[in-house]
Amino acid sequence: MTTAQTLPKTAPAALEVHGVHKWYGAHRVLDGIDLTVRPGEVTVILGPSGSGKSTLLRVINHLEKPEIGHVSVGGELIGVKRHGDRLKELSERAILAQRGRIGFVFQNFNLFPHLTVLDNVAAAPVATGRLTKAAAVALARELLDRVGLGDKAGAYPRQLSGGQQQRVAIARALALRPGIILFDEPTSALDPELVGEVLAVITDLATSGTTLVIVTHEIGFAREVADRVVFIDGGRIVEQGPPGQVLDHPRHQRTRDFLGKVL
Ligand code: ADP
Ligand code: MG
Repeated sequence: MTTAQTLPKTAPAALEVHGVHKWYGAHRVLDGIDLTVRPGEVTVILGPSGSGKSTLLRVINHLEKPEIGHVSVGGELIGVKRHGDRLKELSERAILAQRGRIGFVFQNFNLFPHLTVLDNVAAAPVATGRLTKAAAVALARELLDRVGLGDKAGAYPRQLSGGQQQRVAIARALALRPGIILFDEPTSALDPELVGEVLAVITDLATSGTTLVIVTHEIGFAREVADRVVFIDGGRIVEQGPPGQVLDHPRHQRTRDFLGKVL
């Protein structure tokens, strides 16, 4: 959260999104998105339903391909690049390698129902050949302790509350030691009394210097953790800046209208 300011300007961006356009059929969902995220920076993305927030995260994680534009993570290109008439696509293998450097936490947790909590967290480092089973289990135990679920290692997802499942999902994302973690409305599916425990874990990541991009409607949380707030509407960045600016002194009427509804 604070490290972004202390890094030299020459450090490669953790994430760069350049001129990304995405259509579904005739519907233009992303309309020229440019975004740079520095290492250690926490970016909160706000915007109305249907404004393209999830699509942007999916493009960053290469679950969707932009028609125009490109994304780079840690200085390495992801996806399709259009330079004049030249189009370059990465191999499936390169895409998988890139995706392994990005953590993704979904609204609905997406845990493997047939695996224990411990195996949910340990599975990916083993499957990708990064760690031995023993090392992955040791790491998973450490991460479960970090999210306050050390005593739930042997449980199955259905035995946990939504807040606990989401904390497992965060531990699972951390197990790949990603350079950046994307969150898509991580607390929207939770009962209100369970929201705080998940936001506390994300705040812990933010204060320990993890690079985060978070789509959320939790404005108080955004004010607390964000280095930058980005407001998206109609597939475009309408405005962005420090939370005190965008949330308290928005320059655009569309931002004011949105904040008036969610605050
Ligand atoms: P947000 O996350 O901001 O609510 P989304 O990125 O999910 O918005 O969606 C943006 C727009 O793209 C919406 O109009 C949605 O209906 C449309 N959309 C999203 N995914 C698809 C898809 N796979 N096929 C067609 N349209 C889609
Ligand atoms: Mg969404």
